Amino acid sequence: MSKTYVVIAEVRGGKLRQVTLEAIQAVASVKENGDQVAAILLGHQVSALADDLARFVSGQVLVVDHSALEAYNSEAYFAALTGVLDTLNPHAVFFGHTAEGRDLAPMVAAHLNAGQLSDVIAIEKSGADVSYNRPLYAGKVFEKKRFTDGPQVVTIRPNNFPSAQACASPAEIVKKDYAPPAALRSVVKDVVRKTSGKVDLTEAKIVVSGGRGVKSSDGFKPLEQLAEVLNAAVGASRGACDAGYCDYAMQIGQTGKVVTPEIYIACGISGAIQHLAGMSQSRIIIAINKDPEAPIFKVADYGIVGDLFDVVPLLTEEFKKALAG
Ligand SMILES: Cc1cc2nc3c(=O)[nH]c(=O)nc-3n(C[C@H](O)[C@H](O)[C@H](O)COP(=O)(O)OP(=O)(O)OC[C@H]3O[C@@H](n4cnc5c(N)ncnc54)[C@H](O)[C@@H]3O)c2cc1C
Repeated sequence: MSKTYVVIAEVRGGKLRQVTLEAIQAVASVKENGDQVAAILLGHQVSALADDLARFVSGQVLVVDHSALEAYNSEAYFAALTGVLDTLNPHAVFFGHTAEGRDLAPMVAAHLNAGQLSDVIAIEKSGADVSYNRPLYAGKVFEKKRFTDGPQVVTIRPNNFPSAQACASPAEIVKKDYAPPAALRSVVKDVVRKTSGKVDLTEAKIVVSGGRGVKSSDGFKPLEQLAEVLNAAVGASRGACDAGYCDYAMQIGQTGKVVTPEIYIACGISGAIQHLAGMSQSRIIIAINKDPEAPIFKVADYGIVGDLFDVVPLLTEEFKKALAG
C-alpha cells in the first residue's frame, strides 16, 4: 500500500530554508516508488513561496497562510500543522533539526503516537531496511537506528543531505483553512534578532570561527573580512563569547549551535571537546593556532601553526586574488 511522507517546510527571512530542500531529498532516499510526498508550508504571506517549494515536491504542497502564523509560536504552529497532518494519515514526517523543528517534532510525534529519530546525519537503505545514523556524545560515537512500527518522525541535521532536484512537474498547491486557537497561552511580543552576520551560521557552506585567541571584539575584524571574501558566516567558541568578544548567538558547540559546513576555519580556538561537539562533522576543518600542541589540530584536515593576525589577512588576500581570477 502506498505511504505518505510529509516534509515540514521552514521559512526564514522571507525565503525557504535550505534544510527544507535537504529534507525533501532525505525523503526521496527512503520512499518507495508509488509513495506520496507532500510538503506543508506554514506562515504569513508565504503563498508566493509555495510555487518555489512546489518545484521540488512530486505530490502536494499544503499551505496555511495566516496572520497568526507570522512569528513562530509553538501552540499556533502545532495547531495549524496537526490540522493538516490529520487529513494526510502520514507514514513519516520530516523536519529540519532546527530550533523550530526541534520544538515541533516531539509534539507532533506525541500527537501521532509516532517514534522519533532526531539529528539524523545520514540514511542507509537496503531494500525495505532503512537505518538512520545520528551522532551521540558530542560526535564521539554514532548510532544506527531503525523504526519498528507505527508512524515516524525524523529531524535531519542541516547541511548533511544534498539538496533536492526539481521534479519533472511541480506539485499541486492546496490552500488550507486555519482557525487559530481562541486563546493562545503565550504570544510573541517582539522578535529581537541577534544576527551573527549576513550568512545563516547553521546553513553556511563555510564558517570562519574565532576563539579566545582573537583577544578582543576588534580581533574578529580580520575574520569578518575573510568571511566576506568567502561568503562565509562568522562563528565563535564559548571562550570568545564568555570573554565578551562577540555575541552568544555566534557560539558553536555543545551549548551553542551545531554546524556542518563544507569548510570550517577555526582561528585561535584550542579545540575543547565541547567546541568539537558543534563542528567536528564539518567536511574540511582548517585550524590556525600558534600552539602546535593545540588539540584542534587532532581533528583538523589542514593546520597552520602561526599567529592568526598574520595568517588570516594573508589568507584573505590570497582568496581575493584566487576568486577574482
Ligand atoms: C558544560 C560546558 C559546556 C560548554 N559548551 C561549549 C560550547 O558550546 N562551545 C565552546 O566553544 N566551548 C564550550 N565550553 C567551553 C570549553 O570547555 C572551552 O573552555 C572553550 O571552548 C575554550 O574556548 P577557546 O578555544 O576559544 O579558548 P582557549 O581554550 O583559551 O584557546 C585559545 C586558543 O587560542 C590560541 N591563540 C592565542 N592567541 C593566538 C593567536 N594570536 N593566533 C593563533 N592562535 C592563538 C591558543 O594557543 C589557544 O589554543 C563548554 C564548557 C562546559 C563546561
